[in-house]
Amino acid sequence: MDYNELEPKIVFQYFKEISNIPHGSGNTEEISKYLMNFAKEHNLKAIYDSGRNIIIFKDGTKGFENSGPIILQGHMDMVCDKVPDCTIDMSKEGLTLCTDGEYLWADGTTLGGDDGIAVAYILAILASDDIPHPPIEAVITRDEEIGLLGAAELETSYLKGKRLINIDSEDEGIFTAGCAGAMIYTANIPIEFENSDNNTLRIEISGLNGGHSGIDIGKQRENAIKLLGKILYELSQDCKFSVCDINGGVRENVIPKQAYAVICIEDTSKLKDIVKNIKSELINTEKDLKITFSETEISKKLSKQSTEKIITFLTNTKSTALKFNNKNEVLTSLNLGVVSLADNTFRASFMIRSNLKNEKEQQSDILDELVLSLGGSFEHSASYPAWEYAENSKLRETMTAVFERLYDRTPKIETIHAGLECGIIADKINNLDAVSIGPNILEIHTPNEKLDIASTKRTWKFLIEILKELK
Ligand SMILES: [Zn+2]
Repeated sequence: MDYNELEPKIVFQYFKEISNIPHGSGNTEEISKYLMNFAKEHNLKAIYDSGRNIIIFKDGTKGFENSGPIILQGHMDMVCDKVPDCTIDMSKEGLTLCTDGEYLWADGTTLGGDDGIAVAYILAILASDDIPHPPIEAVITRDEEIGLLGAAELETSYLKGKRLINIDSEDEGIFTAGCAGAMIYTANIPIEFENSDNNTLRIEISGLNGGHSGIDIGKQRENAIKLLGKILYELSQDCKFSVCDINGGVRENVIPKQAYAVICIEDTSKLKDIVKNIKSELINTEKDLKITFSETEISKKLSKQSTEKIITFLTNTKSTALKFNNKNEVLTSLNLGVVSLADNTFRASFMIRSNLKNEKEQQSDILDELVLSLGGSFEHSASYPAWEYAENSKLRETMTAVFERLYDRTPKIETIHAGLECGIIADKINNLDAVSIGPNILEIHTPNEKLDIASTKRTWKFLIEILKELK
């Protein structure tokens, strides 16, 4: 199938132009130039704001001159990933687009349908002269994929719109109407070492399912660090031992699959019983769980008090979904993502998420109290606000009515337990009415990413019909 035959032609034409420009996160200078140039060529006012985002303005068409503006929003950066034998240098070269008429993908690499398709739709609307629409404020942010960086610095003072359609969802037929805010919470607890000449044992947990600390936190997956904490706690009820080292997890936003502790212990029979029980409890849910022992030599161990501190900390902190709404969607969660021992400090960091405004602060207050009681200190960082679900949304009502008319079914309204740019933008614009939509894209952020072409066509029609309704 010839790419140039794909419909809607104008959308796929812009998608191709974007795909020819390398635009991975952190590498958005070229694509920004292209977008500013596009605005100039079409005689549209455009701003490159101090957050390095682009805002392009277009007047309302005939009959819509005095309508309230609509903000159309997507992000210009993409996740770059490729298969091992792919020779494309994604920082310098464009993508090789492939299609069978049903799907669009890039040969050997991510496609950047997330979120290039939003940019293509927006440019097609801005370039059109036959689509009726209210005044448009097109917001194309940078570096969404590496922490919503552009949105965080977006200069919303340039915007008059109170309605926003974000085009960064990957499921046609699902309207996202709320998202979680988040914060990274780091605890530093001082510890003391003593010399040790006993043999030491390394206990290692691996093979857990893991997952995203927001999207997968309600799925009752085991956390390797918490599991290790459970083993150490149960052991401490019957045996004397010291912790020599402890380490686990990779990042705050990932449920840890792996963790280990090195302990100094004489009799290991109790430990083996505990581990046997845990393995049989988890045999159905964590099929690939491995808990292994190996003898090692370490010349230092923690003092009795320091060992107790770590066990108290691991036993008294939660790492799970804490609150749900009536649709069983997670509202508030904690993920203990990383622990380590270094420089006489036990360091532990969490991702705290909540779809409710003040709850992440409540959770951090609870942690503060525990950390202070153990003589430690804490840091709160990378905080961003929740986009709370609004019971009443005029935009969502209008979009639902248009969707029902076109598709003959009702869209699903969802909130997600992860961060979206809508959350950050909604925090900066009072009473912003926002909805997030998008065409079907499969396996985003992987070299198998595929854009559904029929869905892209339907979503284009849907967008055009919505604009007509926004008088
Ligand atoms: Zn995206």
